[in-house]
Amino acid sequence: MPTNAVALLILSFFIQLLALPLTLAETNTFSEGTKYLYPEILKDEAVTRLVDLGKVSDSHGFLERTFQSPASVSAGNLIREWMEDAGLRTWVDQMGNVHGRIEGMNPSEKALLIGSHLDTVIDAGMYDGALGIIAAISALKVLNITGRLGRLRRPVEVIAFSDEEGVRFQSTFLGSAAIAGVLPISTLHAQDKSGVTVQGALKINSIDATEENLLQLKYDPKSVWGYIEVHIEQGPVLETAGFPLGVVKGIAGQTRLRVTVKGSQGHAGTVPMKLRQDPMAAAAELIVLLESLCKQPEEYLSYDGQCTASTVQTLAGSLVCTVGEISTWPSASNVIPGQVTFTVDIRAMDDLGREAIIYEMSNRMYQICDRRSVFCHIDRKHDANAVICDQGLSSDLKSAGYAALKRLTGENPDDVPVLMSGAGHDAMAMSHLTKVAMLFVRCRGGISHSPAEHVSDDDIWAASVAVLAFLETLV
Ligand SMILES: [Zn+2]
Repeated sequence: MPTNAVALLILSFFIQLLALPLTLAETNTFSEGTKYLYPEILKDEAVTRLVDLGKVSDSHGFLERTFQSPASVSAGNLIREWMEDAGLRTWVDQMGNVHGRIEGMNPSEKALLIGSHLDTVIDAGMYDGALGIIAAISALKVLNITGRLGRLRRPVEVIAFSDEEGVRFQSTFLGSAAIAGVLPISTLHAQDKSGVTVQGALKINSIDATEENLLQLKYDPKSVWGYIEVHIEQGPVLETAGFPLGVVKGIAGQTRLRVTVKGSQGHAGTVPMKLRQDPMAAAAELIVLLESLCKQPEEYLSYDGQCTASTVQTLAGSLVCTVGEISTWPSASNVIPGQVTFTVDIRAMDDLGREAIIYEMSNRMYQICDRRSVFCHIDRKHDANAVICDQGLSSDLKSAGYAALKRLTGENPDDVPVLMSGAGHDAMAMSHLTKVAMLFVRCRGGISHSPAEHVSDDDIWAASVAVLAFLETLV
């Protein structure tokens, strides 16, 4: 046979190979485990969907989707379509959460829940919440088209929670708290700025949320195996570490205080410095104290039975304190104010340590106010305990993250970083129902809750491959 003919024969053989039906390609994928990375679904389509969802807004020019708003409902419909496209059975519950579920081979087994939120803050970024929902749907879609969805050993359910940010009703986790069974019934009657209640907002969208069916929304803990959530980090740790994914060891506990300092209001020109009882200068000293205390807690805390060396060590790694809001009365350049109020937000992984800091801070604040002859009052507005992520589930998620990076780079990556979450997430509410674990995804500049929020296409891909690798352990 002439050389040309041999070349043609070889060429036609390869052309035939390329033209083999998809089923054979699928069988290969199936039998070899997923070494394929499905960029068309896990990267391109996931990115397109994030962009599409990012356009579903109640406002022109910026992204805003609050609980049960028209844009929230449209976003829910879009997510529901994508869930169905991935082969999931879908429904919307009485709190507006969108569910997509596959029973797998053992419908009576405990289910894995994967979720995040579909609502946003005002002038939001398009990744916060949406990334977790889309990464999960994309990974399940790959299992579907490769014929593995029905072979899952336990049911898997994706939940797009209707409210996490709490913008409209000033109460976070409406969606996930209802499913976890920790949403107070009275929340149904909470009102937004226009006087519309949670119940009323649902009613407008033909959802009948009565006290009775709110109770029925709670999942039976016996029917749930665990909850995982993918979320953008919303901080700079992963970017600084040069790593696209990280596993969350826990979500910080939080206390919010309002500090009021009252002094003696007076004329800026006539009251001698020695005779002043200036709440502004006192507040400044209190705020600087707070900063020093939270920067170096070990220098302030005394050791006793409650506050051990390990508490102080944990605090040193996780304690953050912020004064984010301050107001003075009367606010004028030629008046010594009569009153200054400011907020304090304290977060830490160690609940006892957080209490120790608040105790120490309060004592020292009152001492400063006494010395300055001003009156201080510290009002405790909000408390939430820290959530420690489940070790086993986190370790599985870490392995999945490692596997994803190995598949994507073809090399053995460094150990996936473990970090804490200073921000609250749906996983916090879900921890009341089941064990939880979270995977963080790097974001540019650590920026979130802003239109400047950005996750690279490759990092979105890494997150989706990680969810796929996690789900593959259940096949
Ligand atoms: Zn979020």
